[in-house]
Amino acid sequence: MQTNFTPAQLADPHVAESEKILRKCVHCGFCTATCPTYVTLGDELDSPRGRIYLIKDMLENGRAADEQVVKHIDRCLSCLACTTTCPSGVDYMHLVDHARAHIEKTYKRPLMNRLTRGVLAMVLPYPGRFRMALQLARLGRPLAPLFDKVTALKPFAAMLRGAPTPIAPATASATPPVLPANGAPMVPGRGRVAPPPACAQPVLDPGINAATIALLTRLGIEVVVPQGEGCCGSLVHHMGREEQALAAARRNVDVWMREVETGGLDAVIITASGCGTTIKDYGHMLRLDPAYAEKAARVSALAKDITEYLATLDLPAHRPKGITVAYHSACSMQHGQKITLLPKQLLKAAGFTVRDPAEGHLCCGSAGTYNIMQPEISAQLKARKVRNIEATKPDIIATGNIGCITQIASGTGIPILHTVELLDWAYGGPPPAQLSAATWASAGQPLGTPA
Ligand code: SF4
Ligand code: SF4
Repeated sequence: MQTNFTPAQLADPHVAESEKILRKCVHCGFCTATCPTYVTLGDELDSPRGRIYLIKDMLENGRAADEQVVKHIDRCLSCLACTTTCPSGVDYMHLVDHARAHIEKTYKRPLMNRLTRGVLAMVLPYPGRFRMALQLARLGRPLAPLFDKVTALKPFAAMLRGAPTPIAPATASATPPVLPANGAPMVPGRGRVAPPPACAQPVLDPGINAATIALLTRLGIEVVVPQGEGCCGSLVHHMGREEQALAAARRNVDVWMREVETGGLDAVIITASGCGTTIKDYGHMLRLDPAYAEKAARVSALAKDITEYLATLDLPAHRPKGITVAYHSACSMQHGQKITLLPKQLLKAAGFTVRDPAEGHLCCGSAGTYNIMQPEISAQLKARKVRNIEATKPDIIATGNIGCITQIASGTGIPILHTVELLDWAYGGPPPAQLSAATWASAGQPLGTPA
């Protein structure tokens, strides 16, 4: 694509990067076929190509964002299906990141929209506030139908409906700083990792991190819990709140680098693939900060999805257990991190029968705060996803992202678990609490029986 930026505009490194990305797009439109918003709404401006044109026009003319640009960029899920499909390697992720930051700086949103986004940015990254907000949301749930009647209040209706029941209690005591390995090391001479950062996931489902730590320590891996780590910044990053996102990234880089420099770390383990995509991008996000660029790149290189790390440990293969698992690949897993086969290979090796739902490339509509800010499109995508998953007739659904777990769980009665919870069960842990005795008894033999 031809661009016409002036040398003065290109002096801004963000504009210079976006110009390079724009020039790679050849307008072929292949990306439209796999874009969930184009497939759902049928509007070219809700396709990757349409958004690319809008962003180009806005940046090239040095214009503030207007209502039209904001409408169509806000509708983008940042699912990155377009980056998987694009034959020209257009880096849509960094282009839309830039557009969102530009919108945040130059566009004054309507009052209720500003208020909703402000509440989300103040609450979601902080576990204590988030837990309290969920408790309040449960009490306020009867008001959801009233809020639904006013367009500007629909996000609040979605928040009230989205609060899980019951809400997991806060852990009574602080996690010890080091959880020693309690099994023989799978790989001699290695095995010290940091667990996932703390934010929304442990509030919504503390069982995921518990299963991760139990499995890793059982496999002979020491888990060190550095003090001071927090939300990865992904949620605010996708809202265009660049400074808040960079502050979160810097804090985590400091915490993890302190651990690297003292005891050493093999990996920073990620169990929410949405966070994984962002942490793996810290090196890029902080590339212009001389004090952090190198450290952030090191942290990004250390970040590993739990399935990437487990795949290095050569776990033993188990006999089939007669339990069918529909694997839902989160967008941030398959498109953001390009991890497609590993989770399924691990589940199969652990004895589960794995099925791939149709249209696996399409987003479930969760996408961070998308199911709150765009509840109607999100609901359509959820219904489509649930239909495709249920068609595989699984006993269990597995996925690697808490946002997808809560989104899909609200549309089906089939139990949905994080992949690591099933692997923990298969390799010596207790049956996950979400499964009925009938489901796990159908295995017919204790999970963990080697092939
Ligand atoms: S990130 Fe997803 S929703 Fe956004 S343009 Fe790309 S495919 Fe469409
Ligand atoms: S597939 Fe790639 S090159 Fe083609 S229109 Fe989409 S972004 Fe541009």
